[in-house]
Amino acid sequence: MLDGPALWPAQAHLPSVIGRQIVIERGEGSYVYTSDGRRLFDGTAGLWHANIGHSHPELAQAAHEQMLRLETYHTFNRFANDKALALAERLAGIAPIERAKVILNSGGSDAIDVACKLARRHWHREGRPSKTVILSREFAYHGLHAYGTSIAGLDFNREGYGSDSLVPETARISLNDAEQVADTIMRIGPDRIAAMVTEPVQGTGGVNPPAPGYLQALQRLCRTHDILLIVDEVITGFGRTGTMFASERYGLEPDLVTFAKGVTSGYVPLGGVLIHPRIWEPFYVDSPATPVFRHGSTYAGHATAAAVALRNLDILERDQLLSRVTELEAILDRELPALRDRNPAVSEVRSAGLLGAVTVAGHLSAERIADSLIDMGFISRPLRGNSLQISPPFITTNDELVSFVRAIDDAVGNAHQA
Ligand code: PMP
Repeated sequence: MLDGPALWPAQAHLPSVIGRQIVIERGEGSYVYTSDGRRLFDGTAGLWHANIGHSHPELAQAAHEQMLRLETYHTFNRFANDKALALAERLAGIAPIERAKVILNSGGSDAIDVACKLARRHWHREGRPSKTVILSREFAYHGLHAYGTSIAGLDFNREGYGSDSLVPETARISLNDAEQVADTIMRIGPDRIAAMVTEPVQGTGGVNPPAPGYLQALQRLCRTHDILLIVDEVITGFGRTGTMFASERYGLEPDLVTFAKGVTSGYVPLGGVLIHPRIWEPFYVDSPATPVFRHGSTYAGHATAAAVALRNLDILERDQLLSRVTELEAILDRELPALRDRNPAVSEVRSAGLLGAVTVAGHLSAERIADSLIDMGFISRPLRGNSLQISPPFITTNDELVSFVRAIDDAVGNAHQA
C-alpha cells in the first residue's frame, strides 16, 4: 500500500506518480521553480492556461484591489455585481457571435455542462423534446464533469461508471471526415440530436488541427439538420491560435462558445459560455409565460475572478500578445517540419497558432521523453498518440521557443539512440 500526500492527484495512475511528484512553488514569466530548486521552462503554460506568463504583478494587484472592495456578490435573480456585468459586456464585444449573452461560471468543465444543458433546454422549449443527443468528436476532451465525461472522445475517460455514458444520449463522430459525420447524423436521426460539440483545434487528443474544410462542413450539417454548434474554445479562446477566438480563424459562426483558461490566464478559476441570440432571445421575452433556464452557482460571475479577467484582457491588448502568437506561430511553422525532416524518430508534427505537438515513433515513449525533458529544464507533456505538447506562454521569446523545439529534438534523439 502506498501512502503519499493527502492531495489525490488528478487523472494519475497513483503508483506511477507517488514519490515522483514535481512540486512547483513559484513562477515568473515563462518559467516555474520546483521545491527542489530547479528552474523549468513552462513549454505547456501549465494546462494551456498561463498565456500572459506566471505571477504577473498586475493580476495580483487586480485581485487584491477587488477583494478589499468586495470579494464577490452572487448573480442569482435580481442580484449582480459590477465586475461580472463589466466582464460580460467586454466578452460580448469580442465574441465570435453578434449580440452574444454570457453565462459565467468556474471553469471549462462547468462551461461544457452549461452549454449541453442549454442546448437541450433550447429544443425542449422549441417543442422538440426528442432532440437530446450531444455529438462529440473522436479523441475530444471537454473536461471531466458529468457532461464532459459523457461526451469524451478519449474512451478511457468514459469507462468504469457502469454504463456507456454517465449522462445518456451522447454519440461520437469522426475526427476529420465530414461524410462520415453526415452518415452518423442520418443513422441517429436529426430529430434526436440537440448539438454537436467540437474543439476547433483538438488539444488533449493530441493537438489535431482540423482537416481543411472539415469544420465548415460540420457547420453546414448543423444548419441543415437543426443541430446547435457548440465550439469549445477552452484552450483556443483568447488568442492561442492568433485570433481572439479560433472560430474567427476557421470562419465559424457558433451557437454556443465555451471558454475558460485564457480568460484569466488561469490566475483564478473562471469559465463561461457565449450564447447566440437565437438561443437567448426566447428567455428574454417580456411575458409571464417566458421560460427560465434553471442554472447557476454561487461563484457564477465571481467579482474577483471577473476583475482579474478584465485586467488580463487589458494586458493581452496593451502588450499586443495576439500578434506575438502570430510571430511565434511562424517559428513553429518553420521549426517543426525541419525537426520532422532531420529526426528519424519523429513521425509527425502538427500545429496551429502557438499550439503544437510532436509525435514520436512507436518504439519510443512520449512519457519518458517528457521526463527526460524535465531533466533538461523544459516542461512538455505526453498527449494521446505518443505525442509531446508545445503550448508555451504568449510572452515566450523567439529564442526560447527555438530552444524548446531543439530540446525536444535532442531528447527524442537521445531516446532513439539509447
Ligand atoms: N474543454 C477543453 C477543450 C479543455 O481542454 C479543457 C481542459 N483542458 C476543458 C474543456 C475542461 O476545463 P477545466 O479543466 O477548466 O474544467
